Amino acid sequence: MMESDLGVRIGLEIHVPIKTEQKLFCDCPTNYYETREPNVNVCPVCTGMPGSKPYPINQKALDSAVVIARLLECEMVKENIYVKRKHYDYPDLPSGYQRTSEPLGENGRLGEVGIWELHMEEDPGRYDLSTGRVDYNRSGVALVEIVTAPDMNSPQEARSFLRELMNLLKYTGRIIDVGGVLRADVNISLAGGSRVEIKNVNSVRGAYKAIKYEIIRQNNMRKRGSEVRQETREFNEKSMITMPLRIKETADDYRYIPDPDIPPLLFKEEFIYSIKLPETPQTIRKRFMEEYGIPEKYAKTLTRDKELSDFYQEVSVLEVDPKTAAVWICGEVLRQLNYRSINLSDSKLEPRMLVELINLVKKQTITEETGKKLLERVIDSGENPQRVVKEESLGRVSGVDVLDEVVDKVIGDNPNPVDAYRNGKKEILNYLMGQVMKEMKHRADADVVIKLLREKIR
Ligand SMILES: [Zn+2]
Repeated sequence: MMESDLGVRIGLEIHVPIKTEQKLFCDCPTNYYETREPNVNVCPVCTGMPGSKPYPINQKALDSAVVIARLLECEMVKENIYVKRKHYDYPDLPSGYQRTSEPLGENGRLGEVGIWELHMEEDPGRYDLSTGRVDYNRSGVALVEIVTAPDMNSPQEARSFLRELMNLLKYTGRIIDVGGVLRADVNISLAGGSRVEIKNVNSVRGAYKAIKYEIIRQNNMRKRGSEVRQETREFNEKSMITMPLRIKETADDYRYIPDPDIPPLLFKEEFIYSIKLPETPQTIRKRFMEEYGIPEKYAKTLTRDKELSDFYQEVSVLEVDPKTAAVWICGEVLRQLNYRSINLSDSKLEPRMLVELINLVKKQTITEETGKKLLERVIDSGENPQRVVKEESLGRVSGVDVLDEVVDKVIGDNPNPVDAYRNGKKEILNYLMGQVMKEMKHRADADVVIKLLREKIR
């Protein structure tokens, strides 16, 4: 089944918490994600006590929303942006309404996907259905909501859009960047069918799975001749399926009213354009290519992750050839991190260690093979590469006298491969080479070994 044949249209509403010291309408701390004890970072405002009045809106949160809107190429709305009360009844919302602003930015885009609007809102608390307990530490933290046009046509497209968006947001340094901060609602329809909204999607992978499931479900219904109803469904991350969500408010049910305690927002032109935009993955990619002369594929890999591009940046200002450094980071370093399923920050590798290691290889003090083994060790131990090479005599061996002896031994130990080589199976040389390297613990100079092998087996 091809999604393109089904006329799939997917739009997303993405909520991401903004990194600020204080909540949107009070001065309570916002670090709910690292606060163990429930209901300690709260006050009458963020717990919706009767008579409590919101503080003036958090300016830093507004700055961040402006930065994000501009990076998404939105047209900025400049005045009469009302903060409204969106009413609904749920234990995570003590006041009975959520404060949510009218759009600050409209008609933007990221890549191929249109951005309809961007606005600010308050995060609700956390309600644990299984225990019935509520924690209001999160209540009132600033969120930015990004609403896309239904421009995506497959689960893959939605996934790569979300990855690109989250990567961009991380590079701004203005969002709370801990696991599971993304919350998305997905709306999805097949050609001629009704629009179904899926709530409760909490990861990029979850979005991909939910969309995939929903396309199959809607297509199966269509094949059976039944109609897809317009409805809201909930994604279950454990079972990876969507289920009908019974309660559903329509826009009317929310009874939006402008919050009488909050004056409408006003953005002066000077303010909007005085905020300096941070470097984005796109601009850094371009800069790396120009400044360090690295090919686009490396620049792309390096900017897929902020941690990685920061690391490369630190490495390339040290005494090292930036092109070689890019090859090592995108190749061996990533390979070894992936093998361990860890991030760079979980490893002990530091920029200066990598630089030292690269230069040891470059100066031919050690072989490339030894370099890779050494990297493996340094990632885990954080040892000084130069010291390890010295203490354990890992230096490259190119002396013909030493290698001569080892090559003779390998030839003597492997009569069958040697015969095969003589009978024209030239690729067997790689095997013999490997045996010599093994004997030499990968310290042997490969060129010398090849030359000796060729000379001795004719
Ligand atoms: Zn508070």
